[in-house]
Amino acid sequence: MSVNIALSRLFALLGALTLFACPMPAMAMPGKPVATCVTRARPGDTPARLFAHTARFDCKGPQNAYGSGDFWILSQTLGPLPKGAATVRFASTWQHGVALYILYADGHIRRTGFDSRTAGRALMLGATFQQIVPPRQAPPTRLLWHVRGSLNLRGIVNGPLVGNYTDSARYELAMAALYAAFAGMCIALLIYNLALWAALRQAFQPAYCLMVLCLLGYAFSSSGLLGQITAIDNNDRMRLNYLLLAAAATAAVTFARTFFERRVFDGWLRPASTAVALGVLATASAFALLSPRFAVAINLAVNLSYLLLIGLVGAVLWRAWRVRSNHLWIFAIAWGAPVALCSVRVLAAMNVIGWHWWIDQSTLLAMALEASLSSFGVAYRIRLLSVERDVAREQEIAARLLAATDPLTGLLNRRAFLEQAIGREGDQQLVIADIDHFKAVNETIGHDGGDEVLRRVARALVSVAPPGALVARFGGEEFALLVPAASGFDADRALDAMRAERMPFDLTVTASIGTCNGPLVRETDWKALYRCADRALFEAKAAGRDRVRDAARLYSAA
Ligand code: GH3
Ligand code: MG
Ligand code: MG
Repeated sequence: MSVNIALSRLFALLGALTLFACPMPAMAMPGKPVATCVTRARPGDTPARLFAHTARFDCKGPQNAYGSGDFWILSQTLGPLPKGAATVRFASTWQHGVALYILYADGHIRRTGFDSRTAGRALMLGATFQQIVPPRQAPPTRLLWHVRGSLNLRGIVNGPLVGNYTDSARYELAMAALYAAFAGMCIALLIYNLALWAALRQAFQPAYCLMVLCLLGYAFSSSGLLGQITAIDNNDRMRLNYLLLAAAATAAVTFARTFFERRVFDGWLRPASTAVALGVLATASAFALLSPRFAVAINLAVNLSYLLLIGLVGAVLWRAWRVRSNHLWIFAIAWGAPVALCSVRVLAAMNVIGWHWWIDQSTLLAMALEASLSSFGVAYRIRLLSVERDVAREQEIAARLLAATDPLTGLLNRRAFLEQAIGREGDQQLVIADIDHFKAVNETIGHDGGDEVLRRVARALVSVAPPGALVARFGGEEFALLVPAASGFDADRALDAMRAERMPFDLTVTASIGTCNGPLVRETDWKALYRCADRALFEAKAAGRDRVRDAARLYSAA
């Protein structure tokens, strides 16, 4: 790869990263984080009683230690809030419904909320719920969530923020820009890869397109955009998330299998990769079909299948290195960041590391990196292909030239001559020249000297051939020249040129020529024309050699 190409790729990469980094300054979290405490819901619980008696709440342990069920989540005292209409945001998780109770300084309690079917109204980009705190004279002081049917895989109320509506709207706009950039990039990648696929027919291209399509679908559904646009149940949206992510992972495995040379997946790696892809698909399908039943166990299986997928990527890279794959480095660079982020996500999903706002938000960046860097991989593959194609084309041209020419004289051979001669429009003049007593030439100056004579005769013929004429060596010491009859070519000029050519050892070499005019549209025309010219040549030989006989003249004289 030339330095120029490497540099232009680097700049393109930096450009892509800048594009995605642009909305970042506006993407500070839209509000202040709020610490929360948790308690399991009991019959007879009321918001008023819980606001009044907070001793029951656990403020230390992680929420997900409680397993699934119904819960109350209490915020700390809010303190002074920023000006403007207040908003509460928290991450979307699996639950039947959420009621949010707001306690105001005057003791008043207001209720807002949604259930999974109406969650779309509350869903923001980045899959967070937003609730507006109804304004009152007295400021809000505390929040209490009543969450019903929480799966609690990664917590019940994650990352709650209290902020104002203006910051929230600005954040939403920045997220929209980010998603639009991602969607635009995916669409561009899809279009150019599909267009290239039409031309190149590389098996990895449809797999790559499928992966990008699934990532686009995943971004669409996991962002919450799908919930905003359609009235889809929020839990069904999550089922879809699991399926789309699994489909993207399966497409990625297929992409890797078709992207690398066959030998990389030889042996156990091919069935292993099939098993891992099927595992990812099967566990995600089980989650989508069965949740909330067995959700905790299935979710564990889902996470394990992704761990295996990460392991598979490691094995593929190791094998690619072992078999000296041409595509190792480009693949390693393209998938390094997404694999690292995927690992972080799996660890977070398994609660090895805590939930963090950034882990959720980084998904899109990781996907953007993966899709665009893989696109560089695709571009690199296409470059290799085009180099291969250029080499093959040059070899083909060389081979065709070799097959078409007579190696001794460089003239056309008989086959190539006929290929180009038959089918010419209009009457043609065929000139056949045969060196006189060539056997004697060979005997006098040796076979190599004879070869040199053949080369010089060829040169002489080429020098008199008009543009567009075909000149060939028909084998032995016989040559042919084809010109349009209308050009009025005088075969004596060929004879003169041969006479003028200085021969080895100043040997005098003469030739006899027979010519004939006629159509040359079909194979049968050729046979007749050649027979006619050959007869003229025979006449020239019979008349004493070193002369031209024109069949037309010959026949008119007869
Ligand atoms: P004529 O005047 O009747 O044409 O007699 P000739 O000796 O030229 O014709 P003939 O066909 O009997 O002999 C042709 C000779 O050309 C025989 C062969 O040894 C020689 N020859 C054929 N191909 C080559 C070649 O590639 N190089 C050399 N040096 N000689 C060749
Ligand atoms: Mg001869
Ligand atoms: Mg001969």
